[in-house]
Order: sequence, then structure tokens, then C-alpha cells
Amino acid sequence: MPFEGTRPIVCWFRRDLRVRDNPALFHAASAGLPVIPLFVVDTELIKGIRSDGAAFDFQAESLRDLADSIAGLGGRLIVRTGRLTEVFSKIISEVQPRSVYFNRDYEPTAIDRDIEAVKFIERFGIEVKSFDDVVIHHPEDIRTSSGGPYAVFTPFAVKWRKLPKPAPLGRPSRFSTPRLASEPIPGGNELPRAKLVLKPLVRGGERDATDQWNSFLKERLRSYTDTRDLPYMQGTSMMSPYLRFGCISPVRMYSDLVELSPGTDNHPSDSDEKYVSELIWREFYIHVLYHYPYTAERNFRGQFDRLNWSMDERTFEAWKEGRTGFPLVDAGMRQLNATGWMHNRARMVTASFLAKDLFIDWRYGAEYFATKLLDIEKASNVGGWQWSASTGVDPTPLRIFNPAIQSRRFDAEGIYIKEWVPELRNVPSRYIHEPDRMSPILQKETGVVAGRDYPSPIVDHRKAAAYFKSQFIMAKAGRLTSKSPRRD
Ligand SMILES: Cc1cc2nc3c(=O)[nH]c(=O)nc-3n(C[C@H](O)[C@H](O)[C@H](O)COP(=O)(O)OP(=O)(O)OC[C@H]3O[C@@H](n4cnc5c(N)ncnc54)[C@H](O)[C@@H]3O)c2cc1C
Repeated sequence: MPFEGTRPIVCWFRRDLRVRDNPALFHAASAGLPVIPLFVVDTELIKGIRSDGAAFDFQAESLRDLADSIAGLGGRLIVRTGRLTEVFSKIISEVQPRSVYFNRDYEPTAIDRDIEAVKFIERFGIEVKSFDDVVIHHPEDIRTSSGGPYAVFTPFAVKWRKLPKPAPLGRPSRFSTPRLASEPIPGGNELPRAKLVLKPLVRGGERDATDQWNSFLKERLRSYTDTRDLPYMQGTSMMSPYLRFGCISPVRMYSDLVELSPGTDNHPSDSDEKYVSELIWREFYIHVLYHYPYTAERNFRGQFDRLNWSMDERTFEAWKEGRTGFPLVDAGMRQLNATGWMHNRARMVTASFLAKDLFIDWRYGAEYFATKLLDIEKASNVGGWQWSASTGVDPTPLRIFNPAIQSRRFDAEGIYIKEWVPELRNVPSRYIHEPDRMSPILQKETGVVAGRDYPSPIVDHRKAAAYFKSQFIMAKAGRLTSKSPRRD
């Protein structure tokens, strides 16, 4: 055995692309043995990935940064491509590791993959240790008084807040990595469907995550409650892609919030409460998908399976390309297509519009988001879509967003709209939310003739909303059958 006596520990990186507060790496490095930081480009997993490349590029940037940080600790990132079991089988025959460490992932498909991987590795008599990561509280640690999982946000959040919070682990000790072959880090353009985003708003990696987080804490956290809903401002943290790829840990973010503005019981002060609440939404959706894995594909509430969604390819394409004639919807979709990120208010409005105005199944929308978003997180995506389509957990009164009203409330001057729909730049604020309402003379003067320079609305919002409401009420009451007439 080439490494007898100092058999290394393999630290298997997945969605935890950082060295600070990384439990698996921290514990592997503390053992005083050589460490093999391994990233597997899993060819089976890639087949099921919907991304058209942007998220892959973000991951590649994060991996390059991780490789640098690991080199700074004395080690070397090893990248291998292939089927997971084949890669492990090869590594095991090359170095006979003592153990394999990794951080857990709570997405249902990842759980299945990990069960298989652990079984496979243990067959060689190799110890496997896994650690909590991704969330501050494991989905099993938050239970209702009867012991079941939560399906409503507020009581989940109350319970979440009461639990003692783990402290961040800091940087790992230095370690060495045995000489092993490594492959290049794969980027988005190696995917068959690669269509890269033009100007991503953030760059991947732990270093950029830390800079972004520190600048948010310093410059924007204080005003977060007032500005988080305004898509034309950079009022939010834009930490979602970093959380998705684990370039920063939520444990560290929470601990920074407490340190910066200590409240009571090791909890941040009230002014930072809103931000914490958003982190809890993230954990809530991870909790829901973990306990109700079917919601990745199906409505949380079965009675809505009877909704006879329609699919009109023409309107679906118009939605995807941001050509619906509803400026806020179009701005959101164009921001997504151009940058791989969309402001949360715009996500809610565009998602509601697809489901409730176009009556297109939310699953098509969720899939489109999955191809584009840098921060694609199955739990939040499916949770956000089911919330927007009113088919999911946490029932609120049926809410149907009116895109023009949303636009007046959250982008009154049309700054966001004009940034992403530049053909509307000469439209006065008064008409920016409904440019087709301009008189024919004004349309000519501004160079925005409805149907020529900018689409006329592709749907009558009032009629569409009334139709959705009637279908929703009937589905809820169990009065829709699979033979109920479709709208198209
Ligand atoms: C239809 C739809 C699809 C969505 N898909 C995703 C997705 O794939 N990945 C994703 O991370 N978020 C998703 N969201 C939630 C939300 O839009 C983004 O998390 C947020 O816009 C990210 O920007 P930020 O980091 O600046 O947010 P901030 O406002 O700065 O919030 C801080 C963090 O809290 C979490 N968070 C904030 N809002 C939500 C929310 N509503 N639900 C869950 N977590 C939240 C995110 O991790 C975010 O980074 C979706 C929302 C909707 C309505």
C-alpha cells in the first residue's frame, strides 16, 4: 500500500465550494493526515441538469477560486470526470484512503445519490463521515408539536428562531495532498446546450462571496427592509448564487449578522430581522422539499392536479423572451435572460403572470428558470413557483398580481423597465406601466407604437384573472374533473 500509515482522507466537494466554515474540510484537515480535496464531474448527474450554461460557469469560477484557496492551505484540488462509482473506485485503488468526508445535501435526488455512494465506498472497508451543511438547521430538527414536518412558514420560523445556532468553524489547518492526476475544471461551454449569459451580475467563488457579503453588511443591510422590494435598486444582497454553490455558509452569515447587530438570545436585532426571515424562507423550502419530495414535480395540494392548464407555444415563447406587452414582466424576463438573475419581486410577478394570466402550468416556468438562473435551487424554485401559482404550501388568500399595479408600486418611474426594455425609454412615467394606453399621437411622438415597436398586451389581464379565479375555486372545491373544458 503506497500510503500505509498516512492513508489520506478524501474530502468530497459538491455544493460547498469554500474553505472557510466547511465542516467536512475542517474535520478532514484536523486529522493531521494528507487530504485529497476531490471534485467529481459526475457524468450521470450532468445528463439531468437543465442549466444552459450560466450556472456551470459560475460553478467553474467557484472551483478555480477553491483550487487557489486549497493551494494556499498546502493542498491541491483534484478534479475527476466520470460516473461517480467509477471515479471513487479509481481513487480508492490509487490511494486506499482511510476515510471519505462530505457535507450533506438535502435535495431528494442528492440524498439518493449519497446513499448509493456511501454503500459503494463502505464496501471497501473505508469509513465515511458526513456533516451538516447547506442549512443552519437540518430538516429533521424542526418538527411540529405532533412530530410532523411543517407546511406553513410562520410556525416553522418561530421554531427555527428558538433553536440554538451552531458557531462557524473558521479556516481549516494546513494539509498536504498526495500526487494524483487531475483534470481541467469544466465550464458552461462544455455542455451541449451551452448558451452563455451576456453579463452575469456576480462572479463565482468564496472570495467574491465574501466581498459581496461584506459590502452588503456595510452598505445595504440597514436599508434592506425599505429597498428589498424595489427591482430598480440594488437593495438585496445577491447572495443567492453563493448560497447555492456553498461559496459561503449560512452559519457564517447568521453569525456575522448577530455580531454586527446583537439583539437578544444570540439573535440579530429587529432591524436585521427581515434579512434573517429571508434566510428562513430558504430553509423552509428546503425543509418542505425534503419532507414532501413529490412537490418537485407535483402540486403540494392534490386538488389542483385537476387544473386544466393550457399550453400556447406562442404566448409561452413571448413570456420567455420578454415580449408580453406587460413592461414589468418583460423587464424581469429580459434581466433573467441577460444576467442569470432576476429580482425577487420580478420573479413573483413573472411567475404569477405565466400561471394566472397565461394559464400555463407552473412546471414549464420552473423548468425555464432552471435553465437560466445562476442560483437555481430546486427547493426555492419549486417553492417560489408553487407559491406564485397558489398550488403550494403556506396557503395565503388567493392573490393574483396585476402586473401594471405591481409595476406602479415597485417601479413607479419605470427605471427598472427602461433598463431592461430600452425601446420604452422615451415613454413618460405616467404610461410606462401600460404604454398601449398612450394616445396614437403620443405613441408616434415617443416612437412606441403598440404592436409595432412594442407588443400590445398578449392577454386581457382582467379576463384572465377572472378565469383563473373561477378554475381555482372549482379545483379547490373538487368540482373540476379531468374532462372540464380547457381555456384554449
Ligand atoms: C418563482 C420563483 C423562483 C425562485 N427560484 C429561486 C431559486 O431557484 N433559487 C433561489 O435561491 N431563490 C429562488 N427564489 C427566491 C428569491 O427570488 C431569491 O432567493 C432572491 O431573489 C435572491 O436574491 P438575493 O440573494 O439578493 O436575495 P435577498 O433578498 O438578499 O435574500 C437573502 C437570501 O435569502 C434567501 N431568499 C430570499 N428570498 C427567498 C424566497 N422567497 N424563497 C427562498 N429563499 C429566499 C436567498 O437565499 C437569498 O440569497 C425564487 C422565487 C420565486 C418567486
